[in-house]
Amino acid sequence: MEIKAMRILCPSCQHTMKILTSKQISSQYRELFCDCESLTCGARAVMNVTLSHYTRPPESDYKKMISNYIANLTPSERRQILLDLQEGRTESDVLN
Ligand SMILES: [Zn+2]
Repeated sequence: MEIKAMRILCPSCQHTMKILTSKQISSQYRELFCDCESLTCGARAVMNVTLSHYTRPPESDYKKMISNYIANLTPSERRQILLDLQEGRTESDVLN
C-alpha cells in the first residue's frame, strides 16, 4: 500500500496536517507521521492507514473462491455444472 495523495485534518484544530514520513508495517497497514500545519496548534500525530475490506475483491480472489468451491463439490455436482455450462444454461435457468 502506497500513499500518493491524502489530505489529513488535525483531530484537534481541523487544520491540514503535513505527512512528514510514513512506515509500511504490512501490505495492508501503514503508519503516517504527521505535523499539524497550524502555527498555534503544533500537534504531532501518528495516523494509521489500513485496508478495511474490498468493495470489489481482486480477480485472483474470485479464482481461489471458485477453485475452493469446485473442490468441495461431489463428482455428480461437478458433472451437473459441466453439463449446465456445455448446454449454456444460466443460473436463472437452473433455479427455475
Ligand atoms: Zn492542529
